[in-house]
Amino acid sequence: MKYISTRGQAPELTFADAMLTGLARDGGLYVPADIPRMTAEDIAALAGLSYEETAFRVMRPFIGDTFSDAEFRACIDRAYAGFGHAARAPLVQLNEGHFLLELFHGPTLAFKDFAMQLIGQLFQTELARRGERVTIVGATSGDTGSAAIDAFQGLDNVDVFILFPHGRVSEVQRRQMTTPQAANVHALAVDGDFDDCQARLKDMFNDFAFRDEVRLAGVNSINWARVLAQVVYYFTSAVSLGAPHRKVSFSVPTGNFGDVFAGFIARAMGLPIDRLVVATNQNDILHRCLSGQGYHKGQTIPSISPSMDIQVSSNFERALFHAYGGDGRAVAQLMDELKAGGFEVSQGALEALRGIYASGRVSEEETATAIAHWLRASGELLCPHSAIGVKVGEDLRDPGVPMITLATAHPAKFPAAVAAATGVEPPLPPRMADLYDRPERVTRIANDLATLETHVREKRAK
Ligand SMILES: *Cc1c(COP(=O)(O)O)cnc(C)c1O
Repeated sequence: MKYISTRGQAPELTFADAMLTGLARDGGLYVPADIPRMTAEDIAALAGLSYEETAFRVMRPFIGDTFSDAEFRACIDRAYAGFGHAARAPLVQLNEGHFLLELFHGPTLAFKDFAMQLIGQLFQTELARRGERVTIVGATSGDTGSAAIDAFQGLDNVDVFILFPHGRVSEVQRRQMTTPQAANVHALAVDGDFDDCQARLKDMFNDFAFRDEVRLAGVNSINWARVLAQVVYYFTSAVSLGAPHRKVSFSVPTGNFGDVFAGFIARAMGLPIDRLVVATNQNDILHRCLSGQGYHKGQTIPSISPSMDIQVSSNFERALFHAYGGDGRAVAQLMDELKAGGFEVSQGALEALRGIYASGRVSEEETATAIAHWLRASGELLCPHSAIGVKVGEDLRDPGVPMITLATAHPAKFPAAVAAATGVEPPLPPRMADLYDRPERVTRIANDLATLETHVREKRAK
């Protein structure tokens, strides 16, 4: 299994190297050169298996010979052992035809734990074998950072630095990043917004001298291994509703397009997915783009669904690569235009995208209304992100095809917004009830490349 860059100018890599590298050296993202297929029999055989066994079967063809079967199984088992639900990703019914896939039972209460806990184990296994150490730098709008810090804290072969926008993450998100005391994890509050954090992260990766000096590795949602881990729950949930014999659609609260792109991979592997619904908040660049208005950056407006507050959606580049028929030069050209503000999508590529993805935008008011409505109608207390997914999924639902909305975070991760909408204060699960009492450790830092690089150089273990 070979991995190629969406911009066509970087060396082909194995799974292990694509995982350890993150961003390709030509600025592109790694994608598999070919997408392995599962037959209808392979998919039918997943019925009744554990989450872990399904994960093994779905991901195995992408791993090549990076890990032995036994090593890979052990990583999967360790990754999901700390989840607070035996099913890992339980499916609950909201109404006739609409289901909620609860992806918030991991250690930091958001779906990002699915990918991050696994990638922590895979990094540790591969780096220990190589006798190497890396520096992981990540940018977060809140949930990636807490998931990464939880997954990597105390591991021997990594230092982790997480950039988050100062004052723009929820208190629970911040505390999940600032309260772990392991010496190898560092939370950095950047004076800027999430797009600034993401831009500085890209700048560090494009500074090749720095990148090589500190052995920079990325675990942001651009990391292929993260996308891959997210493919699994599309299979478990679709199979439990009757795939491969019955089609399903998914509605995905979307920011960086990693989660919904994992759905694209599942579909390309042969899972009968009718529609992938891209649900956005008022930061709706993806909805505008899929509606034929081109891809043009605006200002990020803070919302009650902060994990989706972005303008540049990094994994969308992977979707474009497929929509442009694997033409890396065309993608590189679009990304150059994006630096100057935006680009138009060709008619052919737009049709390709619209054959797979539908989209909708939800305002702040509609988000709050949806949280209150679904609590009354179904008893489910939704986080604002999940509520956006449910609203668009319900609006675009075809009565003949079950809709599965991905519930991306636990309501207790966003208590202020949930309480404002419903009057109900969602409690933290008992295992993290003392979060508000733990001491915090954080560095406030300027939105400046040189300052950040100096900090990383000085604080990482030598
Ligand atoms: C990260 C995140 C999203 C967006 O996921 P992408 O893969 O970036 O599109 C949605 N909801 C929550 C709660 C998140 O943490």
